[in-house]
Amino acid sequence: MAELIVRGGRIVTARGVRAADVAIEQGRIVAVGRDLAVNAERTVDATGLLVFPGIIDAHTHPVYLDDLVSLPITAAYGGVTTVIHFAYAKPGEGLMDTIHRFREEGEAGSVLDFALHGGLFDPAHQSHEIPQAIEAGVTSHKMFMTYAKLGWMTDDYQLMRTMDILGAAGGMAMVHAENGLATDYLQDKTNEAGANARDVFVQTRPAILEAEALHRAIAMAQVGGCPLYIPHMTALLGVLEIARAKALGYRVYAETCPQYLTLTEQALIEQGPLVKIGPPLRSESDRTALWQALADGTIDTIASDHAAKAKTPEDDFFAAPYGSPQVETMLPLAFHGGVNGGWISLSRLAQVMCENPARIFGLFPQKGVIQPGSDADLVLFDPQRRTHITYATQHSNASYTAYEGMDILGSPVMSMQRGDILLEQGTLHASAGHGQFLPTRSGHATLAELRFSGNGDEG
Ligand SMILES: [Zn+2]
Repeated sequence: MAELIVRGGRIVTARGVRAADVAIEQGRIVAVGRDLAVNAERTVDATGLLVFPGIIDAHTHPVYLDDLVSLPITAAYGGVTTVIHFAYAKPGEGLMDTIHRFREEGEAGSVLDFALHGGLFDPAHQSHEIPQAIEAGVTSHKMFMTYAKLGWMTDDYQLMRTMDILGAAGGMAMVHAENGLATDYLQDKTNEAGANARDVFVQTRPAILEAEALHRAIAMAQVGGCPLYIPHMTALLGVLEIARAKALGYRVYAETCPQYLTLTEQALIEQGPLVKIGPPLRSESDRTALWQALADGTIDTIASDHAAKAKTPEDDFFAAPYGSPQVETMLPLAFHGGVNGGWISLSRLAQVMCENPARIFGLFPQKGVIQPGSDADLVLFDPQRRTHITYATQHSNASYTAYEGMDILGSPVMSMQRGDILLEQGTLHASAGHGQFLPTRSGHATLAELRFSGNGDEG
């Protein structure tokens, strides 16, 4: 007898959409099919609902207002079942010490399954630990090509060296791609001219300097022989660099985020510091280019870049930190903007939020798909449910959302992880420490595996 059966829903995976039941035993999916003749201890009626694989958010920062315990909680309310956190090793900190600390805290308190990326602020003194990190299941490692004045920037020497180490050890590089010194100069120049920091923010971080850094990172990753994942793509000029790399067969993967798909630089006028994020929000034509790139396969994933920080619209813009709370609204916004907006199909949405991140980080087919043998991570989603977004009903510790007052159609109503119900009717059932650490195996997905081959809606 199965423990749980989900009946009557429409199953959405990267392959397509079909009416089917899902039977679950001991945390795994054991059968998927129409009118399954299976007895179960509990039946969940999914009539009228879409059933997605659990959403994987491959880009979260659990070191600000939302930590390794509270970030997975706000994520779970948004239909996310797996998070991949950045374990940032600051200057003076060891990479392995940081990874061990994140893993221990996550295993003790996370309601969601989680994996880790390494984050190197000082590769000169940290990159030598990369082979050990890969052994420990942390196989993707990020560096900053920007934020020179903050002391976070990795120069080309250390970038090349670290990519060389990653290539030899079988890991994957990630970079925040913006030209750090050039953007610092532009910021100094506008500061000296007495310009309002908010008004010139986007001009000091232009898309072409993001594209330039992307091009450089792609070149070095090729020389180093390591796959490369680009988080938070924002602009058409960057998309063109990714398209070129993919046309050449380079193993380069690209991500964008709900903020770049939903908002433009106009939001800076109304919300100021609340939407100070790096790279910045860009133009309407960039926003539509990102949807187009998601649809045509140039961009592979959507992730949140959730970094909840204490800010108010009245704060000094220049001094305000970068980052915003995003994880809880990510799936509803991607559904509303992408599917309701006519940019992408349901199965492409499942591909970019479930299957592709699972494949890129080596969690597939344990995660990212609804098929026998996979973890029973499911999200039941009501495409007709209206939501009025307001910070007051969100579960982040941030006191704002960048989408205050937006009305959207479609919302998660239930989720489960390894067969246990996490979210039900707006209530979270999971207990702290339910989440498991997931070792990754990043960078082995071929470009062909990430391409869209869904055959659409079978009913
Ligand atoms: Zn980030």
